[in-house]
Order: sequence, then C-alpha cells, then structure tokens
Amino acid sequence: IVQWTPFFQTYKKQRYPWVQLAGHQGNFKAGPEPGTILKKLCPKEQLCFQVLMKDILRPYVPEYKGHLTTDDGDLYLQLEDLLGDFTSPCVMDCKIGVRTYLEEELAKAKEKPKLRKDMYEKMIQIDPNAPSEEEHRLKGVTKPRYMVWRETISSTATLGFRIEGIKKSDGKSSKDFKTTKNRDQVIEAFRDFVAGFPHVIPKYINRLRAIRDILLDSKFFTTHEVIGSSLLFVHDSKNANIWLIDFAKTLILPSDIRINHTSEWVVGNHEDGYLIGINNLLDIFTEMNAA
Ligand code: ATP
Ligand code: MG
Ligand code: MG
Repeated sequence: IVQWTPFFQTYKKQRYPWVQLAGHQGNFKAGPEPGTILKKLCPKEQLCFQVLMKDILRPYVPEYKGHLTTDDGDLYLQLEDLLGDFTSPCVMDCKIGVRTYLEEELAKAKEKPKLRKDMYEKMIQIDPNAPSEEEHRLKGVTKPRYMVWRETISSTATLGFRIEGIKKSDGKSSKDFKTTKNRDQVIEAFRDFVAGFPHVIPKYINRLRAIRDILLDSKFFTTHEVIGSSLLFVHDSKNANIWLIDFAKTLILPSDIRINHTSEWVVGNHEDGYLIGINNLLDIFTEMNAA
C-alpha cells in the first residue's frame, strides 16, 4: 500500500491532497488556475486533446486548457482537475484495452531479441510455470515474449481492462492489482471500491453506457488506436462520474487501416480491444447492481 500526496490543490475554497494513481510523480503539478493540474507535455497526447476538444467525446475527457512552460523550463499540458467537484473522493484508474503497448514497441522489441535473464526472473516470481521448458533451461526470455505474457497476468488480455490503482475516501490507496486477473477478483476489488456508497453503482452504469454510445459515434474513436488510456472513476457521498484520461499512447491509425475496437488483436491489425473492456466493465457493474 502506497500513499501519494504529490501536492495540495485548492478549488471552490476546498484544500485537498491531490491523488495520482499511476505514472511518475514528477509528471504532475498543481496548475496556475484553481481546479487545474499540469501534466508533462507529450506532443502526441497534446494532439489528442486538441482533437478531443472538437469531438463529441469532449464532455467525457478532462478539459484541455492549453500548454505552458514552467519556471524550470519544462512544458506541461494544463488540464481540468477531475477531482475538483468532489469531497474526499474515492478514485479508481482502470487501464482499458487488451494490450498496453504499441505495435511499434513490440516490433522494436523483436529487432534484436536477446535473452533477458531479468525478465525471466520477473516471470518466475509471478508464475514459476510460465516459462517454457526451453526458457527454464536457458534461464532467459525475450522481450517480446515477456511483453505479451505480461498482459496475461492481469485482466488486460482476457477482460480488456485492468485496475491500475484505487484510492478510498479514508485515504488508503493501493496499486497492488498487477495479478488481479479473474472476473471474481475484479468484482471483489470493485466491491471494496464502492463499499459504503451503493448509490454510485447505477450512476457508474449510466455513465459507462453513455461512454459506449458516444464512442460508437466519435470521429476521434474511429480514427485512433487507443492504447494505455484509462477510465478514471470518481465518487463521493453525493456524486459519481467517469472520464477518459491518458492519451500519451493513443495514435492516429494509418489511413489504410480500420479497426472496430472489438475484434481480436493479431500482430499488425492495430485492434486495441477498447470496447471489449468497456463492455466487460458494464457487464460487471450491472451484475454488482443486481446482486
Ligand atoms: P501512465 O502512463 O503510467 O498511466 P501517465 O504519466 O501517463 O501515467 P496518467 O495516466 O495520465 O499519467 O495519470 C496518472 C494518474 O493521475 C491517474 O491515474 C489519475 O489518478 C491522475 N490524473 C490524471 N489526470 C487527471 C485529471 N485530469 N484529473 C484528476 N486526476 C488525474
Ligand atoms: Mg495512465
Ligand atoms: Mg500514460
């Protein structure tokens, strides 16, 4: 269990510790305007936000308010702080998609596939049976092999999403979901996330449905491969909401390639499984609501 308090935020006269569930701590700062945060600028992500501000997805992503250079000379995106309207919020980051690396990252890893002892060690620490007989004998695995395997230890490869982190209203947070894989394990984590706030489940279901419907009509969504992006779930005793965040690995598709975000990914077809994740999240929250 890790506790982050990278900085304090003030918005609507409230002062609260800002919560960051993923990424490097140095990537975020309080913004110059109340209710905004700064994220280290990545040009690809900036381009996505510029397009998103003109897309029907706009109400489902943090508002992009331009970029700026801080005193230390670093470039940042200025984004709406999604926690601003909540009081002691519970926050969950779910990374969407059946893979979290780009096709080009896999291709690069395949260029000189050396045997990696460090990756073999990481693999057997999680699952001693994961390496093949030959990999055991060589005490090494290649990087592409490791990358593909890594998506199978969480729910990413099977459910099309995984939990990256959860922070509850008591301030306790956990990033310990790397091997939360089965539907039952995911449901247990979600139940803990909403514990004490049963009113939020129907709100999350409605928002997930709205997101799915908008995605199907979004030009941004039809023209992009969305990798490593998350849904940020936020609730408190009154409200609950979900937004799409993190577009650092979201790429415009090559003009000759079309994807439906649902078909199985095979190397080279660019499918991201984004809608597989959304539909499974909807199913799971619906099941939790019925129980
Ligand atoms: P990674 O690629 O490792 O996921 P990253 O550096 O790209 O990390 P993000 O995923 O964009 O960063 O954000 C990290 C965390 O910061 C999120 O999980 C969330 O807790 C918080 N966060 C990001 N953007 C916002 C926002 N606009 N409002 C509130 N919280 C945010
Ligand atoms: Mg992220
Ligand atoms: Mg990212």
